[in-house]
Amino acid sequence: MQKCEVCNTRFSWKQFFVSLMLAYRPVACRSCGTIHTVTSKTRVFAALLLFVPVVIANLYLMGSGIYLFLLALLIIFAVEALFLPFLMKYTVEPASEE
Ligand SMILES: [Zn+2]
Repeated sequence: MQKCEVCNTRFSWKQFFVSLMLAYRPVACRSCGTIHTVTSKTRVFAALLLFVPVVIANLYLMGSGIYLFLLALLIIFAVEALFLPFLMKYTVEPASEE
C-alpha cells in the first residue's frame, strides 16, 4: 500500500476503499493530515479495469441469460473493489492557481 509523500505513514486499504466508493474522494494522511488525491492515470486504469471485464462478460454471458450476466457483474465489481485500493496511486494535491 502506498505511503504518505510527506511523512511516509502507510495508508490503509480501508482509506483507499472508502475514497474509491466516494468517487475518488481525496484521502488525508492519518499522521500529518496531508491531502492526497488520486492521479488521473489511476482513474483511467480503474475505468479500463472495470470496462474490459464487463464487455467480455457481455459477449460470453448474454446468451446464457440476464441473471448469469448480472451475477458476473456483481463478482467483477466485488473483485475490483477488493483489489483496486492496492493498485491506486495518490499524489499530494498541487497548489491551486485560482
Ligand atoms: Zn503524512
